[in-house]
Amino acid sequence: MDKQLLTDNITKLLQRVRRSVEKCHFGNSDILVLAVSKNRSAQEIRVAHNCGLNEFGESYLQEAVQKISELQDLDLVWHFIGPIQSNKTRPVAEHFDWVHSVDREKIARRLNEQRPTHLPPLQVCIQVNISGEDSKSGASIEELPQLAGTILDLPRLCLRGLMAIPAATQDAAQQRATFRQMRETFQQLQSLAPAMDTLSMGMSGDLEAAISEGSTIVRVGTAIFGPRNR
Ligand SMILES: *Cc1c(COP(=O)(O)O)cnc(C)c1O
Repeated sequence: MDKQLLTDNITKLLQRVRRSVEKCHFGNSDILVLAVSKNRSAQEIRVAHNCGLNEFGESYLQEAVQKISELQDLDLVWHFIGPIQSNKTRPVAEHFDWVHSVDREKIARRLNEQRPTHLPPLQVCIQVNISGEDSKSGASIEELPQLAGTILDLPRLCLRGLMAIPAATQDAAQQRATFRQMRETFQQLQSLAPAMDTLSMGMSGDLEAAISEGSTIVRVGTAIFGPRNR
């Protein structure tokens, strides 16, 4: 991908983020822009890194592990944001710094067992099925206290917060209502896990609404790299 186009996209994106932060009263001034690089080549990630991005999100393990190894010369932070099968936890534990998609105890326990001792604890968000869709991964709101309690007891995991992928809608009021529910859920859970500091919500199409409701990480693919081919 053309460096100039990528630079322009990133400039526009950072403006969108900055404007939303200025309008928001939660005061999250340092919002992380996580560049979602699924389906993008290692070369495209290299260019994005040259444009100032350091943290990348991947959803598909096989291609992610390949790219992580190709890009070892760069100082990048890798986030796993895709669904996790319980027989695929090891590569997540071994190759990533963060995982946003922990949604059940079995996955948490396996990641804890498999996290190599020479690495810092894996930074974890619990994925919440906030729109209650049958087809989506994520824990229900009711399951959160118990799952958070389990993760807090696992020494190789560090519970950082919550992540959600709401049902897609163009309706800004609906987007905000869902993100507000996430924020309220997060604040309630903080009574159990006060060190939690991360709300991973907002993508290319709804990051303004997410930031208005207190997002601290927006996960952005299309607005950085352009439309995906698959
Ligand atoms: C693909 C993906 C994104 C990025 O979506 P865009 O609409 O391209 O910004 C964010 N989060 C998750 C979990 C994804 O799978």
